[in-house]
Formats: sequence, structure tokens, C-alpha cells
Amino acid sequence: MSMSKIGPIPLSIGVVVAAIIMFNVSKKRRAQDNDNWRKDKKGGNGESSSDNQGNGSGKTTYRSLNHNSARQASLQQDERSMWSDEHLPSHLVRERMKEKRRKEKIPMLTMKSKMYDNITLCDPQGEALSKISKKKANWYIKKGLADFIDGKEDSVRLKFEPKARSQDADYGMSTKKNVCVACGEPENQMRFYIVPYAYRHLFPEKYKQHISHDIVSLCANCHLLCGQQTQIRMDEIEEKFNIVKKYSTDHRLYKVRSSALALMNWRLKIPAEKVSWHIDIVRRYLIDDCDLDDSCIKDETIPKDLLQKACDIDFRVLNTAFVPGPDLVVASMADDDEKLAKFIRAWRVFFLETIHPRHLPQGWSIEYPVHCMSTDYPA
Ligand SMILES: [Zn+2]
Repeated sequence: MSMSKIGPIPLSIGVVVAAIIMFNVSKKRRAQDNDNWRKDKKGGNGESSSDNQGNGSGKTTYRSLNHNSARQASLQQDERSMWSDEHLPSHLVRERMKEKRRKEKIPMLTMKSKMYDNITLCDPQGEALSKISKKKANWYIKKGLADFIDGKEDSVRLKFEPKARSQDADYGMSTKKNVCVACGEPENQMRFYIVPYAYRHLFPEKYKQHISHDIVSLCANCHLLCGQQTQIRMDEIEEKFNIVKKYSTDHRLYKVRSSALALMNWRLKIPAEKVSWHIDIVRRYLIDDCDLDDSCIKDETIPKDLLQKACDIDFRVLNTAFVPGPDLVVASMADDDEKLAKFIRAWRVFFLETIHPRHLPQGWSIEYPVHCMSTDYPA
């Protein structure tokens, strides 16, 4: 039959056909993606590989950001958003909702003020020492330790001679742009810890104070990608410590909760004898564990508030032997400066290989000192 005999295809059929085509293309792309991911895991593609130095085990390859494909993915996302939910498969609708919720949270998570103020700190002779924040400059002024030069608020001069000079003048003196260090996006900046905060906050003070080299600014999209890959690497590092689970399951309570949920949600669809079985389990729990009188629930109906009580059971049991992974990882390097330095530099390498930053401040480097030698002029 020729097309002229069929006549024009109704718009709704066209939309459905287009949605099916999009679904198949997306499916193929996901399959390809998974395939590449599996190949990567085997260490096939050297471009984004990251050798786990420090506490990492073996050689693992992580996903890394390709700036062109990220832009393309964003365009495809916009294209997909043109289709209404009713024409999309349910897993794509769920993905879309997830993405929508993430985007709604972005304004709450982004920095309210810019990360770098780039105020020049000078010694008493007027020689530039480093760039500092407005907060720090005001702290010096308030303490009477420095003055603004020529009354301008973009540079301050110390009234005392610093004990030591900057460890790396190139990085310390560079003007840092308030953009995503990965892609250059100027909006929606989020602070990102190259060495995850979960580890960093457990480090000795000298590794945390006055050293901002390993805290950078990322846009929401790059932050998401880098955060996900960072978590994968953290899991891998912590895996070798055989961490006991934080919670174990009380199987009796789990069974009671399952029965209560079944009665609450699917009672009408469950065979009568199975309903009685569930009721018996919940009833025994309410009488034995909640000290309820048998008369409250003697018939085949459990009051809704009591059933809800059983649905809300917390069946998890806190394991007293549980120690968080980051605590074990940092404790394994306790007071060993060499191990800590190796650990920190491995995270810097990982960051470079994951996000391929194109806008890092001048002087940022893997070899930059890992702790501050002086407390005279913090960044
Ligand atoms: Zn970015």
C-alpha cells in the first residue's frame, strides 16, 4: 500500500513513533556506555586511568569528564525535555524527575559569595606575599596588624615582618578566577574538596590550616560528576579495611514490618489464610513487644494506628564495632608525613585525570606542598 493511500499520519502516532526511536537510541547509547565502562574497568582506555597511589588498591580506571561530550549530553537533555512524560518510558520519566529535583536543589547548594577575593597581602616594605580573602584582610585590619594600602581595599600591608615567605609564590600570588576550574562556567559555583572532606577533616591541623590549594570551585554539573567518581574511589580505598557494617538486620522485626506493610497496602489482594498469617505475626509483636492488651486486637482487624506502628518499626541494629571508613583510612597513616603526602598527591592526580580541569589557578600543581609551614599569612 502506498503512502498516498494511507493518508497523513496522525500527529499522536508520530509522537509515539518518535518516542520509541528516542528510547531505542538511548538504550543503544546506554549499552555502548556500559560496554565502554566495562572496558575501562579492565584498564583498556589509558586516557582516564588513575593509578591508585596511597591507599588505593591495584590499577582502576574511572570515568572522566570529556568537556565536548558533556556539552552534547546537556543539549540532548534539553532535547529530551521537549517530550512530555506520557510519551516516555517510565525509567526515563524517573530519570527526568531525579534531574529536576537535583536542579531545584542547586541554588541552595551553591556558594552565596564568590570564592576568591584576590586581595594582595604585602610585607612592610610593600612586596607582595600572596592573595588573601576579604575576610582575612579584615581580620588583619581589625587586629591592628595591617593597613589598607593607599586606602584601597584591594591590598593590605602587614605591620610586622613575616616569619617565612610563601611556599610557592607562583600559586600564592596568582589571581584566582571565580569560575568552575573544570569547564570555566561562571555561575552556580560549589566548593569542592580534592582530598575528600571526610578524610581531610581528620588530618592533623597543619594539613588543614592555611592551605586552600586543594579546595577548588566547580559548577554544579562538574561537581556532580567529580563527586560521584570520588565516592567510587573512596569506596575502593576503604574496601580493603574490611569495614564492619554500620547496621545489621533484626530479622524478626523485619518480618513483622513486612507483614504490617502487606496488611496496610495489599490486604484486599492477599488470600484470606495469608492475611490471618500476617495478622498473627503483627499481633504477637504488638502484645509481646509493645505490651498491648490482647483485647485490643483479638479479632481479624488490627486498628490502623497500631498497624502503622508496626509499619514504622526500625529493624536495623547499630553495630557497636562499627568504625567509619575515613577514620580507619586516616588512622592507618597516623603521624606519617610521607604517607599523608603520598595520599594527598594521589587525590590531586585523580582530580586531574577525572575532570581534566582547564581553568586551574596559575601555579596549581601536584607537587605543591601538602601542609603549611607558616601561619603568618594564610591564604
Ligand atoms: Zn564546570
